[in-house]
Amino acid sequence: MSDTEQAYTSYEPGAAVAAGSIPLCVPELRGNEWRYVKECLDTGWVSSVGPFVEQLEKSVAGYVGAAHGVATSTGTAALHVALLVAGVKPDDEVLVSDLTFIAPANAIRYANAWPILIDAEPVYWQMDVGRAIEFLETQCKWTDGKLVNKVTGRRVSAIVPVHILGHPVDLDPLIEVANKYGLAIIEDATESLGAEYRGRKTGNLAHIGCFSFNGNKIITTGGGGMIVTNDPASAAKAKYLSTQAKDDPVEYVHKETGFNYRLSNVQAALGCAQMELLDEFIAIKRSIAAEYAKAFAHLPGVTMMSEASWARSIFWLNTVLVDEEEYGEDSRALMKRLARRGIQARPLWEPLHKSQALQGVQSVGGEVADDINRRALSLPSSVGMTPEQVQEVIGAVCEPGRVTR
Ligand SMILES: *Cc1c(COP(=O)(O)O)cnc(C)c1O
Repeated sequence: MSDTEQAYTSYEPGAAVAAGSIPLCVPELRGNEWRYVKECLDTGWVSSVGPFVEQLEKSVAGYVGAAHGVATSTGTAALHVALLVAGVKPDDEVLVSDLTFIAPANAIRYANAWPILIDAEPVYWQMDVGRAIEFLETQCKWTDGKLVNKVTGRRVSAIVPVHILGHPVDLDPLIEVANKYGLAIIEDATESLGAEYRGRKTGNLAHIGCFSFNGNKIITTGGGGMIVTNDPASAAKAKYLSTQAKDDPVEYVHKETGFNYRLSNVQAALGCAQMELLDEFIAIKRSIAAEYAKAFAHLPGVTMMSEASWARSIFWLNTVLVDEEEYGEDSRALMKRLARRGIQARPLWEPLHKSQALQGVQSVGGEVADDINRRALSLPSSVGMTPEQVQEVIGAVCEPGRVTR
């Protein structure tokens, strides 16, 4: 499979487009990738230890201003380990965004804990922090030094805010309440490497943060992830759990069940080359977003995602809301029409409260997530898009002859 095909596999078949067309979001390998990977092959450092793993850990941690980085095999693995490091125990409950890719909720289930799904807010589509706080303050009670869900009787131990589409969650009020009740915050910053919240980088806003280097993310190692934290004990624990929990690496003594969640040196080599390009990639993503925003500003029924005054988004996937009445076509019809022109667009994820995989899970609201899901469409956002391709997408969305009803 080519990289391009690989990046498609997770998308709706309805949105698939042929080669030679404009994909949604594919990797951009234009720096030292070949050189660093060749170095791995030349030196024999191809497996789970090697200089690039440590270099990538330092580079990502340093970039977001965190003291420590721990590389992992995927972003989902990073989330799983981060939850365990943060002290999430079986049967605990963990607040998580309703409108997100399912990975963080899956990670909560891997830890044998239960997600509580918090609706999105309507402006930036992120976790509705006000609703999360209201849930903690009114639906939970403080007993025996812990916060307990009044309905289920389970302990609430952590919050996983997901910075979706490259824009940060409004985190400060949530951090304040989390501190009040001793809850851990595990940032899912997998879609937002480089984004800023009030001048600080996402992933390093609270206790522990997670990144992904999957093929469709802003930088890629093919597959990979990273935990960042300022706490040396948490970093050591994350390394321990993600490397099979070896208590004595010579005698192979294990006191706990660990995981093989290591990133290989070859993957890390790719990551080191990609990190050198990150700022340039962010600038490109932002300029693609600006082009779309300018073009759609006066197009009735199409609203481009926006950026809060307190945020610097990386516009990972440029997404619009389509109003069927005003635009004359709904988001799915637009998707299909774009596909016929060789342009790959994709809806956002089914809100988690609708997911069969999470049946019976408690949710707070969900109407906003449903409404966004119905209207949203992500447009091509690859760093390697040419200006002509951006104009082609704009032209197709603005096409005057579109089907009206
Ligand atoms: C990509 C992503 C992840 C992690 O994905 P991996 O493929 O496991 O690296 C986690 N959460 C969200 C919201 C994501 O978009």
